[in-house]
Amino acid sequence: MEANKCIECSIVNCKHHAQSVNYCTLDKIKVGTHEANPTDKQCTDCDSFDLK
Ligand code: SF4
Repeated sequence: MEANKCIECSIVNCKHHAQSVNYCTLDKIKVGTHEANPTDKQCTDCDSFDLK
């Protein structure tokens, strides 16, 4: 899978991470939240994350 230069990511324990470079390999990702009223970046999640 090729690095998608439009999606920077440092989550190397995700199976979609390019590993050798800090990019995602998916064509697109979904960003979501686990909060009812997100007010900070810590409130956001990559919903496309999959544990390697
Ligand atoms: S799916 Fe999300 S967490 Fe996983 S490599 Fe892509 S951007 Fe990072």
